[in-house]
Amino acid sequence: MNQFQYVRPAETSGAIKSVALDANAHFLAGGTNLVDLMKMGIVTPERLVDINNLPLKKIENIQGHLRIGALVTNTQVAENKFVKENFPLLSMAINAGASPQLRNMATTGGNLLQRTRCPYFFDTTMPCNKRVPGSGCGALEGYNRMHAIFGASDKCIAVNPSDMNVALTALNAFVHVSGPKAARTIPFADFHRLPGDHPEQDTTLQKNELITSIDIPTAPFSKNVHYLKVRDRSSYAFALVSAAVALHIENNTIKDVRLAMGGVAHKPWRLTATETFLKGKTVSEDTFKQAAQIAMEGAKAYEHNKFKLKLAPNTLIQALKTASGLTV
Ligand code: SF4
Repeated sequence: MNQFQYVRPAETSGAIKSVALDANAHFLAGGTNLVDLMKMGIVTPERLVDINNLPLKKIENIQGHLRIGALVTNTQVAENKFVKENFPLLSMAINAGASPQLRNMATTGGNLLQRTRCPYFFDTTMPCNKRVPGSGCGALEGYNRMHAIFGASDKCIAVNPSDMNVALTALNAFVHVSGPKAARTIPFADFHRLPGDHPEQDTTLQKNELITSIDIPTAPFSKNVHYLKVRDRSSYAFALVSAAVALHIENNTIKDVRLAMGGVAHKPWRLTATETFLKGKTVSEDTFKQAAQIAMEGAKAYEHNKFKLKLAPNTLIQALKTASGLTV
């Protein structure tokens, strides 16, 4: 690991000023991703600004919004009584990710900034446009079993690894950030990027901006929800495909619906056309099969991930059935 300066400010404004002092500085929160990347020489900061003393550790119910401070741990969110009662989809998604030990350390803000687990990103002997822009993409012609089927480019076909992000996308969350110029709020759907020509940029965060909190608007999705994650082993594995489903059902009719998928794109993949199709429909397996067909429009597989073209719709159908209470 390279040598670096380490500072631990107590104020948010001080942390932002401190990170701006060095072009190669990083914020440090739980460290569950960043420290691994530093050990492997993939990220080599000259300055670490530890934000763990900042006052960003509250879960609050504010005027119809749930507000989660950026430093609240994943365990604290998933185990929070108000979250479990009103936003169970979020608890389910967090509990599907990582191990309990990692969830105890990982923070809400950090979860949004997880880097991809593409193996070529971690292998410094291989080309990777995300790690070294312009070097090529080892996965395009390589072993691409875990990779994207939606929204990829010829520069990068990696996927976002977070489970929590999938639920936050479905729940229409907002990300509050502070920066050197001003604070601003970013709709969750606009926070993560598709790779395009710049896969080195995972998000729309500007340089030196700090995530301070996340808001989730209250919505009638506390009953018929499900997060289904398909992976190679039952714990501590990233999703091959996942589906976050939130339904508002009255008299067996779908009044409102939110859907997102994970493991399929460079960002959590919202299924807005499928949501439009489902609104007003009666709950049935046939309806869910039609919905899954719509969800797969535009999907494109690579040499080793063709199985996702079947796995993704099947995962969505199963999650819809479970959320709606249809016999599985
Ligand atoms: Fe790098 Fe993206 Fe290609 Fe993986 S898919 S090797 S992260 S450019």
